[in-house]
Amino acid sequence: MTPLLPGATLGVLGGGQLGRMWSHAAQSLGFRTAVLDPDAHSPAGLVSHLHVCADYLDPQGLAHMAAQCQAITTEFENVPAQALRQLGQTLPCAPGADPVAVAQDRAREKAHFVACGVPVAPHAVLHSAADLVSVSPGLLPGILKTTRLGYDGKGQVRVASLADLPTAFQSLQSAGPAVCILEKRLPLAAECSVVLARSHDGQIVHLPVQVNLHRDGILAVTEVFEHAVPAANEHQAVQAAYEVARGLNYVGVLCVEFFLLKDGPDRDALGPWVVNEIAPRPHNSGHHSIDSCDVSQFELQVRCMAGLPLVQPRLHSASVMLNLLGDLWFANGTQATEPPWASVLALPGVHLHLYGKTEARRGRKMGHLTITAASPDTAKHVALQAAQLLGIAAW
Ligand code: ATP
Ligand code: MG
Repeated sequence: MTPLLPGATLGVLGGGQLGRMWSHAAQSLGFRTAVLDPDAHSPAGLVSHLHVCADYLDPQGLAHMAAQCQAITTEFENVPAQALRQLGQTLPCAPGADPVAVAQDRAREKAHFVACGVPVAPHAVLHSAADLVSVSPGLLPGILKTTRLGYDGKGQVRVASLADLPTAFQSLQSAGPAVCILEKRLPLAAECSVVLARSHDGQIVHLPVQVNLHRDGILAVTEVFEHAVPAANEHQAVQAAYEVARGLNYVGVLCVEFFLLKDGPDRDALGPWVVNEIAPRPHNSGHHSIDSCDVSQFELQVRCMAGLPLVQPRLHSASVMLNLLGDLWFANGTQATEPPWASVLALPGVHLHLYGKTEARRGRKMGHLTITAASPDTAKHVALQAAQLLGIAAW
């Protein structure tokens, strides 16, 4: 691909916080940005040169994007692959419709991991209630997940025994027939993720492995420093992530989530880690890179889609990222009040990112805080101080 140069207009499908931070990165490289999102007040729409306020499959909206943009990306994995397919007829799309369609379907995603030879949790795909009778008892206790439209732990239920499976399956059919995947529940030592970027000519670079803590199914804390996970595991996980990307002929930024396993029979059978899932876009666990690396995941996304060179990011600071959920606005009761930003900003190495969402709601991602420091211990110490000021539980 002939590189697109600053001055060109780059477009994103989806106007959430990922699109907003992507837009900031694109603009600082001198590009114009366009956003397609049906919400008139979308975080990315507010900071872009052009906001096409239309549904993702609206023919006029897509035509408008196609006419205005020289390349397209997505920030929202549930954007219909069809929208990317249509835009892909006339514009370079990074990622393309095919890998996004795989990432949107947990069954296809798992099949892809298996085809790449990377370890996954033992699982079974359940198309209908008739499939439940053939489930192996070895998959229990397990987690039942819908294959489509899950995020932040939504569309999943824990299943203790085979006897509980029919009720669990039924509970996920309320919005219409839903194919599900039953995964064996594995004993997790830690969760981590690798964000990589792959160019049109197949070059791949990656951010250091990120260690992630979830609460109530939502990412709460990410810690990043050298050797946060054992070097051998890190090397294997990065290689596996590269295989997954190559196998999809992926172009763009891709996040691959891993589970590190505790010692025990599952670990003996599967190895030290399994791949959980992919996100075909920058990821919440990579937000630290804006402040802790010399190239952020959002700049990598811009470079990929514009056909500009990729360089291996360098982590220059240990970092801890805290997600700022809407709950923090309700620390003093039912009336939303602004958290004590001034006190937090008095701490060293604190970088506050708010996404411009007008209404705080519980569980809603309002922003994040990255704490950078010269050592992991200092980053964690300051992060715990910030957490205490904000009413985030220690970890
Ligand atoms: P995301 O917000 O990352 O997209 P999600 O809703 O797509 O989340 P998963 O990442 O598959 O769903 O699962 C959510 C969480 O449930 C994981 O982060 C992990 O803590 C736990 N979990 C999922 N699958 C398993 C498993 N097989 N064994 C143990 N824990 C699991
Ligand atoms: Mg996940």
